[in-house]
Amino acid sequence: MRSIDVVVIGAGAAGLMCALTAAARGRQVLLIDHANKAGKKILMSGGGRCNFTNVYAEPANFFSENPHFCKSALARYTPWDFIAMVSKHGVPYHEKKLGQLFCDNKSRDIRDMLLEECEQAGVDLCLDTSVRQIEKAEAGYALSTDLGPVAAQSVVVATGGLSIPTLGATGFGYEIARQFGHDVVATRAGLVPFIITDQLKDICNELSGTSVECVVSCNKQSFRENILFTHRGLSGPAVLQISSFWHLGDAVEINLLPDRDPAEWLQGQQAARPNSDLKTVLGEVFTKKMAVLLTDHWFASKPMKQYSPAELCDIAATLGAWEVVPAGTEGYRTAEVTLGGVDTRQVSSKTMESLRSPGLYFVGDFNFQWAWASGYAAAQFV
Ligand SMILES: Cc1cc2nc3c(=O)[nH]c(=O)nc-3n(C[C@H](O)[C@H](O)[C@H](O)COP(=O)(O)OP(=O)(O)OC[C@H]3O[C@@H](n4cnc5c(N)ncnc54)[C@H](O)[C@@H]3O)c2cc1C
Repeated sequence: MRSIDVVVIGAGAAGLMCALTAAARGRQVLLIDHANKAGKKILMSGGGRCNFTNVYAEPANFFSENPHFCKSALARYTPWDFIAMVSKHGVPYHEKKLGQLFCDNKSRDIRDMLLEECEQAGVDLCLDTSVRQIEKAEAGYALSTDLGPVAAQSVVVATGGLSIPTLGATGFGYEIARQFGHDVVATRAGLVPFIITDQLKDICNELSGTSVECVVSCNKQSFRENILFTHRGLSGPAVLQISSFWHLGDAVEINLLPDRDPAEWLQGQQAARPNSDLKTVLGEVFTKKMAVLLTDHWFASKPMKQYSPAELCDIAATLGAWEVVPAGTEGYRTAEVTLGGVDTRQVSSKTMESLRSPGLYFVGDFNFQWAWASGYAAAQFV
């Protein structure tokens, strides 16, 4: 039987960070992944340019039923700590907007940087390797793996959530959590596009590829960013963000004119250009095609002067608070994250160690800054 200080299961963002940090502390680390490549989600992330952190990331941005849980780890490994590693490796990056940092070149730069750090620290990385079973042993854990039996003082579960099974996602982490007495909060897909099946479906399909800046709201949360029409419904950053607050049956409200008071603006347009058609007026704010399709869907387009004040009021209300009821989401197939999962009330927020089974740690998922911070936190104690 092979004996090792630490086994990290999952060579994604959190597992790589945890492994390299623990190994740099002098721990012997075996990093196992069943996939044929490490960090597949890193490679795919940020449209191929990995949005590896956000300089304004703070605990309030981390959506949780247990909002205090993330504070300690995020305070001990900040975006600036990760930026220091990125700079040390000379990885070129830029700020896109709202503090979001992306690679200038490819996401691969981040993945390769983490692999290089692992190698320098002496991490033993085994890909194409499965862990079949984990049992509590007298000192630590006994694992049955494709490499044969392994004894480890500490086991770090970094197997991520359920999103994008084709990139290696499994429910393994939740199974281990349950095995060792943890509750698992019901999971659902987050940061995921909406599917529309009602009469709007054809419009979404026709406008596929069109994006427009909006304020999207649901369940007392609002995001101002672009929405993107797709063949099957709605996507884009504003929709992905609100999807995490949406439940089946909820309506989503979309303000298509976030920079103006729709009623005042329409009245102004009516006074200034009474002979222009509504779709011409809207075509100067949205794309022409979007103005035509939405106008045909909602109102009969006619010259502005022909609308009564009450009609203008209705149009303003629709443009300022368009109600969409999605039929569902695209699910784990395309979701960026998994909501729910291992109940954080049974995990130490300082060490990420199980409060039910000493020596067992849970790290990762949610976003990269959390993956770095939780992986780093556990690595100090394994
Ligand atoms: C398309 C997409 C784009 C994204 N873009 C961004 C972005 O730009 N910025 C951002 O902050 N976040 C982004 N995210 C979210 C981000 O990828 C995740 O938050 C992050 O990858 C979580 O890291 P993790 O290590 O917990 O899990 P993962 O990265 O999912 O890693 C888990 C690892 O465990 C392995 N594994 C799973 N089951 C087993 C098993 N049974 N045995 C062995 N190994 C196993 C998997 O193969 C995988 O390598 C994106 C996600 C997706 C899907």
